[in-house]
Amino acid sequence: MYDDNNVFAKIIRGEIPAFKVHEDPHTLAFMDAMPQSDGHTLVIPKVRARNFFDIEPQALARLIESTQWVARGVRQAFNPGGIRILQFNEAMAGQSVFHIHFHIIPCYEGTELLM
Ligand code: ADP
Repeated sequence: MYDDNNVFAKIIRGEIPAFKVHEDPHTLAFMDAMPQSDGHTLVIPKVRARNFFDIEPQALARLIESTQWVARGVRQAFNPGGIRILQFNEAMAGQSVFHIHFHIIPCYEGTELLM
């Protein structure tokens, strides 16, 4: 169910680089490599969890708390008109990296988003 070779597992292990903006004992946040808009950030737990259904409630609570913290920082840094928080489960829903993550996507006047 959980593949330890997914790209976010490699980022957690430090095997591939990421532009990290937040790290604590339970979560990590970094800039999306193919951003939908300026400031597009991803937040992940350090536990092995494929998606929303796999993750333990306590780890999910920590992930959401961290996402709120990071989203506040993104809002302050980029000053968008609004922010989307998105999360996809399985390929049918648009998930391409199978380690649960929240997208923080700033929305700006005149910019059309794909997600
Ligand atoms: P989608 O690819 O449809 O957005 P996901 O919700 O699984 O599906 O999102 C994975 C996200 O991870 C994408 O936005 C992609 O740009 C991003 N990504 C993939 N590889 C890396 C990487 N090495 N560093 C940072 N972001 C990455």
